[in-house]
This record gives sequence, structure tokens and C-alpha cells, in this order.
Amino acid sequence: MSTVEHIGDPGIERLFVIVGTDYHRFDRLVWWIDEWLEGDPGVGSVLVQHGTSGPSERADSIIDYLRRSELAQEFRDASVVVCQGGPATILQCRANGIVPIVVPREERFDEHVNDHQVDFCERLAGHGDIDLARTKDELFRLLDESVGRGGSRIATDDGHAAIAISNFEDQMVELLGERARSLPADLAEVVPLHASPKPVPVLYVGSVPRSGSTIISDLINEHPHVINIGELVHMWERGLIENNLCGCGEPFSECPFWSEVGERAFGGWSHLSGERMHTLQRRVDRTRFIPALVKPNLSRSVGTSIVQYGSVLTRILRAALEVGDAPVIVDTSKHVSTALLLHQLPEIDLRVLHLVRDPRGVAHSWTKAVKRPEVRGEDRDMDTLHPGRIGLRWLWFNWAFQNMDRLGVRSVTIRYEDFVADPTGTLNDIFAFAGVDELASDLLDGDSPLILGEGHSVAGNPRRLDRKPVKIRADEAWRGDLDPKMRDLVTRVTRPMLGRYRYPKDL
Ligand SMILES: [Zn+2]
Repeated sequence: MSTVEHIGDPGIERLFVIVGTDYHRFDRLVWWIDEWLEGDPGVGSVLVQHGTSGPSERADSIIDYLRRSELAQEFRDASVVVCQGGPATILQCRANGIVPIVVPREERFDEHVNDHQVDFCERLAGHGDIDLARTKDELFRLLDESVGRGGSRIATDDGHAAIAISNFEDQMVELLGERARSLPADLAEVVPLHASPKPVPVLYVGSVPRSGSTIISDLINEHPHVINIGELVHMWERGLIENNLCGCGEPFSECPFWSEVGERAFGGWSHLSGERMHTLQRRVDRTRFIPALVKPNLSRSVGTSIVQYGSVLTRILRAALEVGDAPVIVDTSKHVSTALLLHQLPEIDLRVLHLVRDPRGVAHSWTKAVKRPEVRGEDRDMDTLHPGRIGLRWLWFNWAFQNMDRLGVRSVTIRYEDFVADPTGTLNDIFAFAGVDELASDLLDGDSPLILGEGHSVAGNPRRLDRKPVKIRADEAWRGDLDPKMRDLVTRVTRPMLGRYRYPKDL
């Protein structure tokens, strides 16, 4: 934590954040706290009790649950408390002379079974018993005021809060029976009830980009029980920040599918900062963090960021599954690190479709200038890369995806050339692997060109925006067009693994 203090502000010694022990997650509060702390607001130290929510990555200390004795000590030491709208916590704060800043859990974010915390907190706030924050801005303002004041508002007990809390308990007893009376009081030692939601099945396309993944994932998207969301890895930059075009042709912010996903996952994308998520992503989803992704307990800071970032991804994927009303999601991110990250997430049921194409074909595709029509308001091309670098990338990606089953990742390897030779058979193999009906012959319908339906891929190859009829045919242009010197270079670089995928070592 930074010791920088705002000039003129006394700052606060110790901030204590409590999400409580309910089994529902309350990630929203932890994210907001982290975002506020990122502005170096002048706080000595921070403890976050996070329960089942993803832990804070900006706090000095985090703990899932506190024993009652530890909790009492923390209340005595705290200068400011931010908590959920649980009666016992609020009462304890006030008993320690603290007017807590309270963010109530809300049903619409799946943070509680109903909105009793909201009703209850609004009543308390009406009497000045708590400082209520329903939005991020309100929370930030109340925290900034605490920094300016040097601590929380001081609770002078006129007995009102205690009465309100006892009334609240009576209402809960009416609702839930006598059991409810002991629940809030046992706050610190209740054994959390872990919800075990159904895992989200994700079919992840892993390959060197431009190995034919766009056409294959578009075809998979034609299956009525599958929804292709494109390259989730580029969601922040190209979706939230740059507002590029979705696969349906609408800008990200106006796409009905993604708007609904944002609403379900976070109560709207405005609750999430694209820049902050992009920063968080760069802390975990990168090739250099692969050792930590394989063994997250190696590094506490990376481990914490993985949990926090992972909970955001999980929410998005679960919401996409619900909005798309399909039992399987396709993510075409392709990166090795993203696959490993998804594999770490307990609520994701990951299957990797490892796609391989002749590296000389891939290299040729990377030398061509291709426009990116999804970028609005400016002319931008897809990246190009030197064939030698593509060769190295080909080796590394295929080695990594080939060995992922050693980490317990379910995967299948498909050659692009086999798909082109037998689209129906290959697609059915993919469907079977994904656990959906093998409908390829219905979808492909003989030799006639295929008109692809609308999709909502958030980012990816510009071809996904094209609604022209497609005919599946081998892209063999590289054989004539790739500079022979470059072709030989790629062959030399990739030679150790060419035989494994039945590609010729001499051309
Ligand atoms: Zn869309």
C-alpha cells in the first residue's frame, strides 16, 4: 500500500472491508475497493475479508473468514469500516463507535436471495445510522470524505440502530423461521455454505492465429446448442475500450447480446472499467505468467489476481451462456495463457480444440495486409509478422497445446487440412468432443455454399463480419505465393514438429 498522502488530508490508518459469510459472492464490493485503492487515496493499511468472493489484490492483507475474537480486534483497530448490509456487522461497528459505510448486497447481481439488505439499509440510512453507498461513485465519495476527516463518522448511540436491527431480525424470523434469529449473530463463525453452481462448458479454440479458426468456429456457431463469443481475450481492449464492431455488425456497446450479458453479469458494463480490467488482464493472462498459471500458489500476488480476474471472466461466460440460451460456449481466444487461466477457474468446464495448420500456410497468411473493418473511425490493418517468428510461434503453441492434457485439460487435435478434406466428418468430431449432437450433415447440406447466420463474436478475424456465402476449400495460395526463401526458413524452424502433424519436411 502506498504511504503517499493527499496534501492537506489527514488520511486514514486502517480500512477494514467486510463482505460477510453469505455463500453468494459479493465481488462487486471487492472490485470497487480495489479500484479506489488504485488511486493512492492515503490509507495506512487495508484488510479485506472476502468470503466466497474473489480476494482483493490491492489490500495489504486478505482473509476469507475471521474468527469472532479476531473480528472483535479488527473492529477496535479499524479507522473506517466498509461492509455489506448485514445487521450483525453494522451493530458491531456502531458498538465500536464507527458509523460504517454500507454497500448492500443486491438480488439482481446474484449477491443475495432477495433485496432485504437494500430495504434494511435504506431505513438505517434515513436515520443517519449508516453511510449508505448504492453505487461506486457514492462509495468513492464516502471513502474520500473519510480520508478528509481522518476516519469514519463517530457513532453516538441513541439506540435507534439497535431497535431497527431487532425489528429486522423479527421480520427475518417471520420470513425464515426461528433459525434466522441466530444466523446474523453468529456472523463470524458460521460455516459458509458453498454454492455449487453448474459449471459453464467452454470449447476453447487453441491455435496459432490464422490457422483456419474463423471459418471453423463460424460453422460451430451454426449449431443450435453452441454460441461462439469470439476472442474473449480481446474483450476489454476491442469491446469495452475501443467499442469495435461485434460479429453482428453493431458496435459493442449497442449489440443487444453483449448489452444483455453486461446487464446480467454486472448490472451493466458501466459498472466495470475496461481500462482497469485490461490492466488486471495483463497481470495474469500473459505468456510470462504461464508458470504461475500452471501452479497459482507459486506467487501470491499472481494467484490473487487470477482469482479476481477469473471471477470476472466466469461471470461473463455464465451470463453469455444464459443470454445465448445454448449449453456450450465457444471462445476463440487461441492464446496458450488464456486457456491455462480458464482451466484454473473452478466454475469453467474447459475443453480445448487444438487446431493445427501447415506452418507455411500460416506464415503466408501473416504476411498479407488485411483491413480490420470492425475498428470504427480509422483505417487499421491486422498485424503482420515475419515468417521466422511465425515458425517459432507455431512450435511453441503446438507444443503447449499438445501437452495440455498433462495438466488435466481435455483436448482434441484437429488439422485444418483434414477439416477442408472432410468438413462434415471433422465438424461432427468437434461436436462430439463438445458434447452436443452431431448435426454437421444438416448444417453443411452437400456442396451448396453456406450462408452463415448472425454471430456475436466480440473480436477476431474481420472475415467473421462477412455475410457472403462461404464455400469450404483449401487455401493453398502459399504454395505459389510464399517467397521460397521464407518457405525454407519456416520449414527449418518448424522441422522438429512437422512430422508429428504429417506435414512434409521437404518442399
Ligand atoms: Zn453482437
